[in-house]
Amino acid sequence: MLFDERPKTKREDLFDRENELNGLLTNIYRPLIVLSGVRRIGKTSLLLVALNESKLPFILIDARKLKDNYGWKDIYELFSQALSSSLDKIADIIRNIRGVSILGTSVELSWKGKNYVSLADLFDHLNQKRIIIAIDEAQRLRGPLSREVKEAIAHAYDYDRNLTFILTGSEVGLLYDLIGIENDKSPLYGRYFYEIKLDRFSKEKGIEFLKKGFEENKKEANESTIEEIINFFDGIPGWLTLAGNYIISGKSIEEVKEISIRIAVNEISNLIESKRNVSEIVAKRYKNTLKCISEGNNSWTKLYDCLSKRENSTLSSSTLSNILQQLENMSIIYNYDFLDPVYKEAVKR
Ligand code: ADP
Repeated sequence: MLFDERPKTKREDLFDRENELNGLLTNIYRPLIVLSGVRRIGKTSLLLVALNESKLPFILIDARKLKDNYGWKDIYELFSQALSSSLDKIADIIRNIRGVSILGTSVELSWKGKNYVSLADLFDHLNQKRIIIAIDEAQRLRGPLSREVKEAIAHAYDYDRNLTFILTGSEVGLLYDLIGIENDKSPLYGRYFYEIKLDRFSKEKGIEFLKKGFEENKKEANESTIEEIINFFDGIPGWLTLAGNYIISGKSIEEVKEISIRIAVNEISNLIESKRNVSEIVAKRYKNTLKCISEGNNSWTKLYDCLSKRENSTLSSSTLSNILQQLENMSIIYNYDFLDPVYKEAVKR
């Protein structure tokens, strides 16, 4: 069902991603694959469908759960949970690893003490079998321990030929930063990775998606509602799915817009305020910058003037460059415009 609000897991439920899916499946033997695109564009869906189609055992790590200043205990807990979820497929190879205990259906990894198992050791053991290690929202691994985690992945890249890492990320600049594509000091620097950049559906495809979704739910939606949904939400499948479900439940298009804007307001605050080293003043400045961009200030000079007015002070140009860079890294904006039309409306609040 297209309007199922959970990430899709089966090929028949995945709309219009044949090229991306085939690309992912034919490259699944590579050591490192990156799947990038804004929130709700369908990264998790594509990943889960590909994992399902490949029939290979996998370990799925949801890095969303990591706090900004995560420690070893947190990262080991995350890996333990992921190993537990895939236990039926990997029990035979992790059973005899020092520092790994299996208690019923759950796996525990020792993260300190004499029984400690390093991530690199763990990867070397997993390498006995062909396994995919997928890390969803991998940019969350940035932080105090990211170097050690990346070193373990770099080690596996070089020595563990049975392992494939798939990293997904919606804050694309931060994901690149994690991989260190521009930083020759990064452990993963210079290593090739296959990348899939997911883009929104075209208007025609978006309309087709909505029509099919309504049809599956035996709901007639008139042309003008469909047109309004697509004009407001553009071709971002997660928003289209949300809108479709609310319309089916009897909400008006205005109510649906309102609900989604409220969701986006919340997300933007979380995104900005959850960043380390972002003080209240800086967070306010980010939001002012976003407001200025939403009002159509689409060049350096216009934006600079608008922000100086809003802040009632003269900013240094490096401050503005820095803000823009950070907002681009978080994939909120690109080239003085919003990557998600709902975010654009949300910052006007
Ligand atoms: P992301 O991981 O990029 O945030 P998700 O895979 O979680 O995106 O998708 C967000 C929502 O949109 C989910 O409800 C999912 O079912 C739906 N969705 C995304 N892409 C597609 C697609 N190609 N076909 C059908 N539904 C999709």
